[in-house]
Amino acid sequence: MNYGCPNNQCKFYQKSSQVIKNGHFKRKSDSRYIQKFKCKHCLKQFSKATFTLEKYQKKRRINLKVLEAISSGVSMRRLAKHLRVDKKTIKRKVDYLAKKVEPKNSRFLTKLTRDKVTHMQFDDLITTHHTKLKPLSVSIAVDANRRFILGAKVSTIAAFGHLSKISKRKYGYRKSDHKQALNELFFQIRSCVAKDALVRSDEHMNYPAVVKRHLPLVTHQRFKGGRACIAGQGELKKLSNDPLFCINHTCAMFRANINRLIRKTWCTTKDPSMLQKHIDIFIYYFNQIYLKDVRT
Ligand SMILES: [Zn+2]
Repeated sequence: MNYGCPNNQCKFYQKSSQVIKNGHFKRKSDSRYIQKFKCKHCLKQFSKATFTLEKYQKKRRINLKVLEAISSGVSMRRLAKHLRVDKKTIKRKVDYLAKKVEPKNSRFLTKLTRDKVTHMQFDDLITTHHTKLKPLSVSIAVDANRRFILGAKVSTIAAFGHLSKISKRKYGYRKSDHKQALNELFFQIRSCVAKDALVRSDEHMNYPAVVKRHLPLVTHQRFKGGRACIAGQGELKKLSNDPLFCINHTCAMFRANINRLIRKTWCTTKDPSMLQKHIDIFIYYFNQIYLKDVRT
């Protein structure tokens, strides 16, 4: 692999013609020998690590552990305790992992455009931003035949039921961007759904418009949600043949494996953008690590 000069003031910026090898160093954080380079023109020194997302990281050894643990129901604070690092380190690791998995997730979707989804199911999962007075919604779409999670988007919604009055009094008017999130989700995944696919959902009023807009030729079937059974965190239903089983099961997987989504818990989301990052990391883990293990 050729490395170009990283100095943007240099005449040979991003060109490898003037770059020569310049020894190596032993990286303390993971005991690896790293090749160093030098640009002959501007004398700038750099190494293989300069071009990676992990640049300047001091705790590389825990990256994989963090990925696996936060996708397996461990909270960020408990993980910090467990790995003997600060909770801020875990927060930074989540930021880093979210950046790391983003191209991997989009590559996965690109792969699916060649092998399209013929049966899609989608639904919303309700969670809270610190308190039940500030609910959040996670719109999730799955491939019902192969269990892949196609995407998930977090949005704010207004409090409902008897909490709506209290919420308004305490926090003021709460804008709902649920429709926008649904549109973003469908825009992201529409190229991997077959034109004549079967799409199933429940009877939420925002769904028909978004399906019609992004996937006009598909067959959209809507079902009434059943009563929850005890297992599956209220997501699995008490029906003998649940037509929305795949999406309900995936939602139950979300609740069981993303600590902040567990019902009746102390661990809640304090920042919706972190929830989105956590979900993106989980989607990568589920599609590309967990399902592979299940299949083989
Ligand atoms: Zn240079």
